[in-house]
Amino acid sequence: MEQYSPVTKEVIKALQEAVGEKYVKTDPAVLDVYKSDESLAPSFWKLPEVVVSAGSTEDVSKVMQIANTFNVPVTPRSAGTSVSCGAVPACHGIVLLMERMNHILELNEDGMYMTVEAGVRTIDIQNAAHDKGLLYAGDPCSSDSCLIGGNLATNAGGNKAVRYGTTRHQVYSVEVVLPSGKVAHLGATLKKCSTGFCLDQLIIGSEGTLGIITKATLKLVPLPPYKLDVLAVFTDLSKATALVPKLVKAGLNPTSVEFMDNNFVRSASDYSELRLPHYEDGCYDIVSIETFNEDELDDKMEKLAAICEECGATDVVEADDRVWKVRRNCLESTRVFSKVATSEDLVVPVTKIADCIQHLVKESQKYDFRVFCLAHAGDGNLHFQILKCDMNDEDWEEQLQAFRAIAYKYVYDLGGRLSGEHGIGLKRLDYMEKYTDPVELELMKTIKRAVDPNWILNPGKVISAD
Ligand SMILES: Cc1cc2nc3c(=O)[nH]c(=O)nc-3n(C[C@H](O)[C@H](O)[C@H](O)COP(=O)(O)OP(=O)(O)OC[C@H]3O[C@@H](n4cnc5c(N)ncnc54)[C@H](O)[C@@H]3O)c2cc1C
Repeated sequence: MEQYSPVTKEVIKALQEAVGEKYVKTDPAVLDVYKSDESLAPSFWKLPEVVVSAGSTEDVSKVMQIANTFNVPVTPRSAGTSVSCGAVPACHGIVLLMERMNHILELNEDGMYMTVEAGVRTIDIQNAAHDKGLLYAGDPCSSDSCLIGGNLATNAGGNKAVRYGTTRHQVYSVEVVLPSGKVAHLGATLKKCSTGFCLDQLIIGSEGTLGIITKATLKLVPLPPYKLDVLAVFTDLSKATALVPKLVKAGLNPTSVEFMDNNFVRSASDYSELRLPHYEDGCYDIVSIETFNEDELDDKMEKLAAICEECGATDVVEADDRVWKVRRNCLESTRVFSKVATSEDLVVPVTKIADCIQHLVKESQKYDFRVFCLAHAGDGNLHFQILKCDMNDEDWEEQLQAFRAIAYKYVYDLGGRLSGEHGIGLKRLDYMEKYTDPVELELMKTIKRAVDPNWILNPGKVISAD
């Protein structure tokens, strides 16, 4: 965007004085690493002009003040596992790394909360809680690499959202550096609160457009001691998807209900070098049930088996670690087929997920690209991994637009939205403008202008400046 100034020597000097020389990088090899994220969409990638690594809230604050003074945009970046070009520096400028802020500051067992810096890896938070017999329930499939700040910024979902909600439901409070550089402490470690606007929740899920999260106090819950994971295999896609609303309605309160189509079963099994039942023709529903009482688990398992049978499951077996390995490897496994792809993240009411998957899988077969489908089915969130493979660029763009036009209209007609957990990022900006209610969109822009008048923080993401 032309409204920003280039990163000059003067800017570099100011950054070096603020955070220390060794944390300010301009070597082309380093800049190259941070032009992209995990989105396989090279047409969106942009080189930063400088990469800065923050070690404290004060560092982040100083960087924002410098950015405003010199009119240089800032893109906050955690682990860069975004699949919506969220971590790509849309307007060049500064990429601000959060990974040095990686300390767990307090784990309070009695109060059941944990205070962390934003750069702590999600899996380290999960493990620290687990070691104390507690559960941190945020669990994106990327948890072994993503950072909690990235999860908070995107309101990440994942495998446990059916029972525990998404990242925003795991939070008491956040510390945020506002675009001006001021530091805000939002929310409190309270069970309830009706004291003014709920600004912590406004920041969570705003994809780093309203502030940079530097610390968070996270809720922990008791770890259920009894758990069983079941793999229900179907050789008919419609039956596999029809199971989902029935399960949710039966009151089993599952922790996970994950769906994989046969394309994903095959690719992720190959990638994981594992063979699971019905590799050739199976669609999978993976269901996890957790309880605090053994009898309750037995009872729920009986009910689950009956529902699977009623829905026409071909096989119902215990899902061991191999099944979860295959599930977790789904996204990576498609890279073998195509270096260019897009991950759609549509969300619909849970009662509509079966219809939606069936309709869109059928629709997608009219195009030349390959489509693999999986879903966090228990929360109505489906991922269509659309692979360019050997299509030429022109046909790819044209056919992708055509499919999206049909798919998005269909999803909005069902009461759904563009993204259930990955966020809008840079990739879905145009569609956000097109599909969002104009009054809602204008409200978002009014808030952004009020908080960030220079539109200096993460420009080009979620909403456009016009
Ligand atoms: C294999 C794989 C599996 C995945 N599975 C899931 C899944 O199950 N559920 C799910 O929700 N997502 C999933 N994702 C997507 C991704 O992992 C999540 O969006 C994750 O929350 C991003 O975290 P990150 O640390 O990588 O953040 P980044 O990618 O670095 O950043 C994400 C966004 O947040 C902003 N941001 C980063 N840090 C901060 C901060 N401290 N303050 C403010 N803004 C910030 C960035 O500017 C960017 O817009 C998956 C991705 C991959 C590659």
